Amino acid sequence: MDSPQSPRAQHHDERELAEFIRAGSKRRPDQAFGDYYSGHSASCALGAAYEAMYRLPAEVGGQHPTRDLDWFFDCLDNVKACPAEGCKKRIYLAALIVHLNDDHRWSREQIATWLAGEPKAAPPKTAP
Ligand SMILES: [Zn+2]
Repeated sequence: MDSPQSPRAQHHDERELAEFIRAGSKRRPDQAFGDYYSGHSASCALGAAYEAMYRLPAEVGGQHPTRDLDWFFDCLDNVKACPAEGCKKRIYLAALIVHLNDDHRWSREQIATWLAGEPKAAPPKTAP
């Protein structure tokens, strides 16, 4: 490795990861459970992120990716608390994404929204 060690902006990582999940979800419109990929049209949240991570640089015209894979795996190595209500798990982000996908049956979009730190879509209000 001879890449320069430049200080990186921290904590934009999960937002970018969310974008990868969304990009991968467009590629495979169905969600897989228990597997990264299922058939040609389904991926779980982490599978979607992997796929987008590996393929996106090619789609921007062969430009050098701005991030390397180390960033991606560093990000997935953070231990985080499960955001699902009533769940006390604290696991690596990579495992947590799969856990949300498989065990809590969150949609990939829900997982991406959580990762990006965006407010949840407000539940529809019932008129008084
Ligand atoms: Zn959980």
